[in-house]
Amino acid sequence: MSINVKQNYEELVELMSKQGEKYDFELVKKAFEFCVKAHEGQKRVSHEDYYIHPFNVSKIIVSLGMDSQSIAASLLHDVVEDTEFSVDDIKREFGEDVALLVDGVTKIARLNFSTKEQQQAESLRKMLIAMGQDIRVIIIKLADRLHNMRTIDAMPEQKQRDISLETLEIYAPIAHRLGIRPVKEELEDLAIKHLDPIAYAEIEDSLLHRKNHREQILNEIKEKIRERLEEVLPGVKISYQSRVKSIHGIYRKMYIQGRDFDEIYDIYAIRIITDSVADCYNILGIMHDMFRPIPNRFKDYISTPKPNMYQSLHTTVLSRAGIPFEIQIRTFEMHHTAEFGIAAHWKYKEGITDNDKKLENRLAWIREILDTQDASTDASEIVRTIKVDLAEEDVFAVTPKGDVINLPVGATVVDFAFAIHTAVGVRMVGAKVDGKIVSISHKIKTGEVVDILTTNQAGHGPSRDWLNIAVTNQAKAKIRSWFKKEKRTENIATGKFEFERELKRNGINYSDEELEAYLEELATRQRFSSVDEFYAAIGYGGILLSKIMPRVKEDYNKKSSATKVAEITPINNSKASKSTDGVIVEGIDNCLIKLSKCCTPLPGDEIIGFITRGHGVSIHKRDCNNVPKNIADAQEPDRWIAAHWDGEAHSENFISTLQISSIARDGVLLDVMNTMYNMRVPVHSVNAREVKNGNCVIVITVSAESVEHLKSIISRTEKIHGVFSVERINQ
Ligand code: MN
Repeated sequence: MSINVKQNYEELVELMSKQGEKYDFELVKKAFEFCVKAHEGQKRVSHEDYYIHPFNVSKIIVSLGMDSQSIAASLLHDVVEDTEFSVDDIKREFGEDVALLVDGVTKIARLNFSTKEQQQAESLRKMLIAMGQDIRVIIIKLADRLHNMRTIDAMPEQKQRDISLETLEIYAPIAHRLGIRPVKEELEDLAIKHLDPIAYAEIEDSLLHRKNHREQILNEIKEKIRERLEEVLPGVKISYQSRVKSIHGIYRKMYIQGRDFDEIYDIYAIRIITDSVADCYNILGIMHDMFRPIPNRFKDYISTPKPNMYQSLHTTVLSRAGIPFEIQIRTFEMHHTAEFGIAAHWKYKEGITDNDKKLENRLAWIREILDTQDASTDASEIVRTIKVDLAEEDVFAVTPKGDVINLPVGATVVDFAFAIHTAVGVRMVGAKVDGKIVSISHKIKTGEVVDILTTNQAGHGPSRDWLNIAVTNQAKAKIRSWFKKEKRTENIATGKFEFERELKRNGINYSDEELEAYLEELATRQRFSSVDEFYAAIGYGGILLSKIMPRVKEDYNKKSSATKVAEITPINNSKASKSTDGVIVEGIDNCLIKLSKCCTPLPGDEIIGFITRGHGVSIHKRDCNNVPKNIADAQEPDRWIAAHWDGEAHSENFISTLQISSIARDGVLLDVMNTMYNMRVPVHSVNAREVKNGNCVIVITVSAESVEHLKSIISRTEKIHGVFSVERINQ
């Protein structure tokens, strides 16, 4: 070994010794030497010797507390991919286990993630399968990615962006889900640094700017807390820490939730770590006595751990000086889990025991995703569910009895019901939130008391529409399995077929729109909660068609004689109507809105409304087969009407033109374009010209997703050096 190589090896051994665990030093030494030799002569893009990379990856693996086999595999992780040695060679030299780990990492390296959802889904699926087999493969892969991100500056710029995006979309969420906080946060911060360098620098600056002042305040508060706790809880072991939120965490709140830096309460937090859960709650009470808590900011992750097993109490309080800050209270054990997540499993022990319950819990979600996904054939659906399952924040709501239910953001009443129990979900007929009846598509917010109303009526079950309303895998899987079990699918299909045959036989000829509206009416009249229920009842013989057909015929004759567009008249004002479905129809107030069954539009889809005869507006996807390609050529073009989802703008609506006035300095136009690029804002046109007094005017037309989004585009643009005003000049 050369001197440098030898020093590096000694560094690794020293790091391992500090961990105070039992290691197979022979195995690690052999792997280190093999790695150096196998990569001999190879260089990284940065011109360093190649082995420096696996060496650094192995240091990360050691610091995460992983076992000897993982350390050896991390040293060898690029050998199969980049040198002449094969998995068999590794197996011969290092045994089956290390060879399997190296093989797993190599296979992931060959996955080609792309922004195309289809491919992303496939790659994610393979990665999840690898995780299910041996989770150490993913931990090594995360360490590999972390070192690559730390040294990404040597890469060409486009590559930096691509790798950063992939890190943010795939690797960081997985690190989060496995609960390995330091790796997750560093991956996110490095990614955002390369994806949006301006914002990154801004946040770094804001933090630095307030650093001394905040540190002083926090230290004073910490001292006060220490004094009080020593007095009230003498002899209790307590450790105090301060925490600063990660740059990516702040970035999300500023640029995605549109908050001001100073409105983010949990940038600075005080962490109190103690021995027992009972003391955690004691301390919480004392904190709420010392400081005024801010309502709705208390989260009990001890009684309801996050899906990644994170446990802690969080509360936001006001200091005497009126500055809000967060307090996190947890036990030492919880703290250890919060820092190392799934990797904590290997700390203090070698190898895996099969019946380790914690590890089982951690892996259960992977199986759930794998189990439920073959039920859905659409690959983009898988990506969507995985993204939801990996989502950052959770909401907490309670049952009337006070049980806390933990759900991902965006979860609805349907998810809540199935999270309580399958039997509650399938018998649900409605729900009350804080005492008020809500639609089952109501999105749950933290702190709400949700009362699921159920029925004991035989034959009642979930509606097929709920699959579109539920967002959690758990609820969707339970709804699907209910349908399967109850054979309702066949019943509905049979019922639909028989009903439509009867219509034809009787010469009843509704348009699709009209039929849909009429079916709703008919189902309600027959006391079914949905058209599917109605069809299913025909299917299993609960309704005899011969009994209802005369009435159906009568209805048809009445309806076809009334030709005018009834009840609903578009009003030409700019007011828009809201509905519980979250759809806004332009120019119409207070109308009944329903989502059509032929194409089941989802929030985010481009949509259009159709004014039905007397049954409100039905909403279709713009590309549904029942919507004319060209509205002007439609039979009754006036009945088609613009619609969009509440909270998000119709794209055309938010094409906005901004007039930017600036000092005419070199590069100002480039900075404007960079800002738009970094915020992923589509630009439709740009026009720049010099005006008097050494100034210039840039007129730029962009698409914004919402008014909030537009505001943040404007405020970002205003911060560009030299810019003195940004105005919206149309709409
Ligand atoms: Mn590598």
